[in-house]
Amino acid sequence: MAKHYDAIIIGAGSVGTPTAFSLAEAGVKALVLDSRPSAGQGSNKAAIGGIRATHSDPAKIRLCLRSIEILTTWKEKYGDDIEWQKGGYAFVAYREREEKILKDLLAIQKPFGLNIDWLDRDDFLEVIPDLNPNGLIGGTFSPDDGNASPLLSLHAFYAHAKRLGAEFRFNETVTSIDTAGGRVRGVKTDQGDYYADVVINAAGAWATPLASLVGMDVPVQPDSHEAAITEAVAPFLKPMIVDIRPVTGSANYYFYQHATGQIVFCITPSPSLWGEDIRETSEFLPMVARRMVKVMPRLKNIRVRRTWRGLYPMTPDGFPIVGWSRQVEGYLLAVGMCGQGLMLGPGLGELIARMVKKDLTESDHEILGILSPYRQFAGQEKLK
Ligand SMILES: Cc1cc2nc3c(=O)[nH]c(=O)nc-3n(C[C@H](O)[C@H](O)[C@H](O)COP(=O)(O)OP(=O)(O)OC[C@H]3O[C@@H](n4cnc5c(N)ncnc54)[C@H](O)[C@@H]3O)c2cc1C
Repeated sequence: MAKHYDAIIIGAGSVGTPTAFSLAEAGVKALVLDSRPSAGQGSNKAAIGGIRATHSDPAKIRLCLRSIEILTTWKEKYGDDIEWQKGGYAFVAYREREEKILKDLLAIQKPFGLNIDWLDRDDFLEVIPDLNPNGLIGGTFSPDDGNASPLLSLHAFYAHAKRLGAEFRFNETVTSIDTAGGRVRGVKTDQGDYYADVVINAAGAWATPLASLVGMDVPVQPDSHEAAITEAVAPFLKPMIVDIRPVTGSANYYFYQHATGQIVFCITPSPSLWGEDIRETSEFLPMVARRMVKVMPRLKNIRVRRTWRGLYPMTPDGFPIVGWSRQVEGYLLAVGMCGQGLMLGPGLGELIARMVKKDLTESDHEILGILSPYRQFAGQEKLK
């Protein structure tokens, strides 16, 4: 006879895996199903590891502040090294346009108590001595942000979720959602039937077809992004450097030095590469390498070892979609993480556990209002 669970999570990725951990910690009997052979094989493994709370809206700020707390204390609490580094984020301004954007953002960010400030050129260079000083106006710096290994952090959530009783089944694709009398009863996969009172769609870039199985029209579109990693060199760079100047080919790019010495970097292609094509190319390298060396001349002799592509699960306004379905009771969406699923996942996992346990705080209600599946999608996240 098919087993009954309290909750079924579709997707063992950046969101589904920490959610399984938080549910298991809260005593909820959870099953995670993923069509790939192990945890984190969707977009999670394409992420470069950046984690920041310095967003421009209360929902993402609160979720990511909590994620940072969880990741910062993980090793001490659970013993696993997830390569967390508190290096900060530095958004550079070489033109008045970016100076204005960053200063305007700061005015929104500061009231949330975020540790972020504008630094003029000389102070900024003290923090990042290798930046090209020519034409530099300054930038914002948030020392409490950082980075962690997407692979190791996801594996840590997976191992501890299992230790606490969550079950994972891989190589199994969910093909339909079983409903009766307006509520979920479980799911059907290509291998069997599983029953639960709650079904959580955490299927990342593939969330839309799964939502349509219960008649929901959820606007998540796969958007291909490019990344690369260099050989390892001696440590010289702490923060994640972000350059938001748009040029033909890339809307922005960002890079940092990993704990093990490699420079990891990523671009937002412009125009966007909509669709699921993640065949890697190195076409973006000449363009981004030129940009990076201009901002940090010291990078010029470091050799690139590997490039890859992965999918952002994009929403029209750049905000995640989190909330219960109004059509089908017990169906919960935790999708549309855009370029921030790794940093949102741990905080969001805890929020989802409180949703399932019906134990929401006032702040949770505010977050869920902003991320509601039923919002207008008319706004625009300022730093997607
Ligand atoms: C190049 C690049 C760099 C990035 N850098 C960062 C970064 O620095 N920081 C950051 O926070 N984020 C970053 N991201 C974004 C981040 O990777 C995503 O936002 C995040 O991985 C999305 O998490 P998810 O759990 O929603 O989806 P995923 O991690 O993709 O998990 C979804 C899972 O659902 C499974 N699935 C789908 N459909 C089904 C089905 N029908 N049945 C069973 N299983 C199914 C998939 O197999 C997949 O494993 C980056 C992304 C890219 C591409």
